[in-house]
Amino acid sequence: MDEVLVVTGAGRGIGAAVARQAAAGGWRVAIHYGHSAGPAEALAAEIRAAGGAAEAFQAEIADAAAVARLFAAVDARLGRLGGLVNNAGIIGGRFPVMAPEPGAFERVLAVNVASAYHATAEAARRMARSRGGAGGAIVNVSSVVSRTGGLPEEVHYAASKGAVDALTLGLARELAPEGIRVNAVRPGIIATDIHDVHGGREFLAGFGPQIPAGRPGTADEVAATILWLLSPAAAYVTGALFDVAGGR
Ligand code: NAD
Repeated sequence: MDEVLVVTGAGRGIGAAVARQAAAGGWRVAIHYGHSAGPAEALAAEIRAAGGAAEAFQAEIADAAAVARLFAAVDARLGRLGGLVNNAGIIGGRFPVMAPEPGAFERVLAVNVASAYHATAEAARRMARSRGGAGGAIVNVSSVVSRTGGLPEEVHYAASKGAVDALTLGLARELAPEGIRVNAVRPGIIATDIHDVHGGREFLAGFGPQIPAGRPGTADEVAATILWLLSPAAAYVTGALFDVAGGR
C-alpha cells in the first residue's frame, strides 16, 4: 500500500496508537501535532526505524487556513492521500454552565468540531472521484458522551462530540457518491493523558469497576477499530457510529 493517512493530534494517546498501527499495516502516515514537536518527531523516527513511512507536521488544527497548509505539505512530502483520522480533541476544562470559563465553549467547538470539518473538506477534495481521486476513508474520533451527556461539568465536551456524530452521519451521505466513507468511533473511558483534567490515573482506577468490562480501554484497542474502519474489510460501512466502550 502506498497511500497516505493523515492522523490529527497524533503525538500521543489514541492518535499515536493509530499512527503506529497504520504504519505497520503499510500506510504512509502524516503525524499531525499542534504544539509539541518532540513526541511527534520521535514517533515518526520510531516508525521509520521500524521500516515504515512517517513524517510529522505542525498545524493549528482549529484554523482552516492552517489546515489547508497542512494538507499541501502532506501532498508534497508524502504523496497521495487515502485516509484521514480526525482525532485531535480536548475536554476543555471542567465548569458548571452557570460559571463557565470565558471562551472555553467556543474553543472546544473549534478544536473538536471545526477542525474535523475543515480537515474533511481538504481530504475530500483530494480523494473525491469527481475530482480525479480514488476515494478513501475518514474516521472521526467522537465519544460515548455524545449519547450520555458527559461527565459532570463537561457538557461542553459532550456537545462537541454530539456535533462530531452529526458531521459523521451527514458527511457519510454527502461523500458516499465520491467513494469516500465516513465513520466515527465512540470510545468510552480510555487510559490516556486526556483524563488529567479530572484526576488522571486515580480517576481511571476508580472508574474501572463502573464499566461493564471492568476496566478502562487502551489506546490500541480504539486504534484497532479505527484501522478496521479504514480498511477494505469495511468497504460497505459508512455513516456508522461505532462504540468502543467496554459495554458502557
Ligand atoms: P490525548 O490528550 O492524549 O490526545 C489528544 C490529542 O489532540 C493530543 O495529541 C493533542 O496534542 C491534540 N490536540 C489537542 N488540541 C489540539 C490543537 N489545538 N491542535 C492540534 N492538536 C491538538 O487524549 P486521547 O484520549 O488520545 O484523545 C484522542 C481523541 O479521543 C480525542 O478526540 C478525545 O476527545 C477522544 N476520546 C478520548 C477518550 C478517552 O477516554 N481517552 C474517550 C472518548 C473520546
